[in-house]
Amino acid sequence: MGKVFLEHINGQKLYNCAACETNLTNKRELISTRFTGATGRAYLFKRVVNLTYSQVQDRIMLTGRHMVRDVMCKNCKAKLGWMYEFATEETQKYKEGRVILEHALIAESEGFPDA
Ligand SMILES: [Zn+2]
Repeated sequence: MGKVFLEHINGQKLYNCAACETNLTNKRELISTRFTGATGRAYLFKRVVNLTYSQVQDRIMLTGRHMVRDVMCKNCKAKLGWMYEFATEETQKYKEGRVILEHALIAESEGFPDA
């Protein structure tokens, strides 16, 4: 296996993989902190980098039926949450293409202001 190429997101507040500290996203990409994952609190983000995705899975959630992919850290392969591929309920369409990261699996750090 070759070198893993990682992207970098700038910002004042960064969210990183808790296991290996790979940068994943920042506070500007945060949509909501009011989600629940397997480990408890989970955050919804507009855009997250440095992930690998599982095959699409059909999952029935409290908010209806969704097609989702599990997301893993590209660097250490730790499971971090999931991505909404497709939502069947009209009210849940805003989540399509968005990513859930479980709070217990990510770490916050102070970033650098944009140059
Ligand atoms: Zn990692």
